[in-house]
Amino acid sequence: MAVRPILIYPDPGLRRKAKQVQGITEEVFALVRDMLETMRAAPGIGLAAPQVGVGLRVIVADPSSGEDPKAVLALINPVILSTEGSSVAEEGCLSLPEVSEEVERAERVTVQAESPDGRKVEVEAEGLLARILQHEVDHLDGTLLIDHLNGVKRELVEQKLRKRQREAVEAS
Ligand code: ZN
Repeated sequence: MAVRPILIYPDPGLRRKAKQVQGITEEVFALVRDMLETMRAAPGIGLAAPQVGVGLRVIVADPSSGEDPKAVLALINPVILSTEGSSVAEEGCLSLPEVSEEVERAERVTVQAESPDGRKVEVEAEGLLARILQHEVDHLDGTLLIDHLNGVKRELVEQKLRKRQREAVEAS
């Protein structure tokens, strides 16, 4: 297992649409293991494969923040089948350091996917897990949480991110 580097906005890898996983090979298995370890190390509560530079439809989630091993989910080719209700809550992203913004999401979702051992699974989630799943599935389509902000708010956040990036370049 290995912790993989997480791409930071505006890395173009974050904007690419990820491809369907065709068969769960040893490589895909290793990706899932590394993503779980990378999420744990960050620490984070969700991670999508494009964030570690892999253009495949794989996500991991841990709404318990490392407290409950049974809460950890790894999903391959996840699809949101249905959504219900709406809720607004503050959200962050490992690829957008220091950004924390209120985002409106569905309150409940049903997600169909494959588990890493190749079983078809259907996950019914609400609250935090529903939010994580929507955020991570967004990543698979190159969508970031800033895309959910209104124009002015988004411009402010992008300015902050550009400033941070310039500082990082100057410091290296
Ligand atoms: Zn994210």
